[in-house]
Order: sequence, then structure tokens, then C-alpha cells
Amino acid sequence: MQFSRTENPPRFENYRVYLPFLRRDFRRSCAYCERNELVLGGEDFFEIDHFRPISRFAELVNHYPNLYYTCAKCNRCKASTWTSDTALNRGLRFADPCQEDMYSEHLEQLAGGELRPKTSCGAYTCDHIRLNRPDLLQWRQGRTRIGAEIKALESLVAQLRTMTETVLADDRERLRQQVSAVESRVQRLREQYG
Ligand SMILES: [Zn+2]
Repeated sequence: MQFSRTENPPRFENYRVYLPFLRRDFRRSCAYCERNELVLGGEDFFEIDHFRPISRFAELVNHYPNLYYTCAKCNRCKASTWTSDTALNRGLRFADPCQEDMYSEHLEQLAGGELRPKTSCGAYTCDHIRLNRPDLLQWRQGRTRIGAEIKALESLVAQLRTMTETVLADDRERLRQQVSAVESRVQRLREQYG
């Protein structure tokens, strides 16, 4: 997915103060692997990444557009890596999840959850953030499987909604409530794996 910033925080002198704004702008998800807080066990597993590392771009340390919400593992893998001018000429750079959807533009997901780069940018990003590490393969396999289940459940809900019109009035309300309960569960799954 591509993230868009809608928050407009005031200027702070300590980048950590931006955390609540970042959580909202990044929809409580890691900018790079896209796992969200519900999957990882809460906000304690998330950190602030400087997209352009402060070892090279010290002036951007408190610059909100340079701050990205990430899981601790992606942040650790990315660390202070940055491309060189020579490599950049060959397209070797980090995909910017605030500017592009790297999962559609630069990467392709294979059946087992593995990512195959489509571009130099995809290869650089995948290698340096280790996007094919085992925990992410497992997460993508689970997301694909649950995505299919969500589709099946939505189709079932649509059928049941049609059926509610044909049952006796006494049963109709009970059936509607049950359908609504299923819809709520589907919605929770979507929030977790969407
Ligand atoms: Zn991550």
C-alpha cells in the first residue's frame, strides 16, 4: 500500500514526540512490511525510522516527512543504510512507501509468500530490509489464506442477507443479528490482515 500523510503536527525539537501522529498516518502499520499493531502485539513493537538516515542527513532528524512508523525488526534491518550516488544511477534505492506502492510497483508476491523484485529498487529494498525473512513469509502466507476466507465469508453473508427476506418474520430479526455478528468478525479480520 501507499501511505499518505494527513496529520499536520506542529514542529517539535524531539522526533519521538511525533509518534502519535505517525501512528495515525501509517495506520498503525509498519511502513515496510505492512504488518500492523494487531498482528505484532501492540505499539511496543513499533519504532520511528528516519527514512534518510541521520548519519547522512543530520538536518532531517526532527523533520516529520522523514519519519516513518516501522516495526522494530524492519527498522533494525534497514538501520542507517542508504544508497550511493553511483548505485542510485542504477536504480538501487529504497522504495518510498509514502510515494509509491512498492508491493505493486517494485515487488511481486509468489505463491509461498516470497517476494520477487520487479525492479532494481525492489531488489535493493527487499535485500536491505530483508523482506523475505521467515517471519514475513509466514505472515504473507497467513494473510493470503485469510484473505480468501474473508472473500468466502462475505459471499456467504450476501447470500444470507437475501435469504432473510424470505423467512418468517419471527426468524428474520434473529437471522439479521447473526448475519451482523458474522459481518463484525469479518471486519475485525480485515483490520488485522487487510
Ligand atoms: Zn516491518
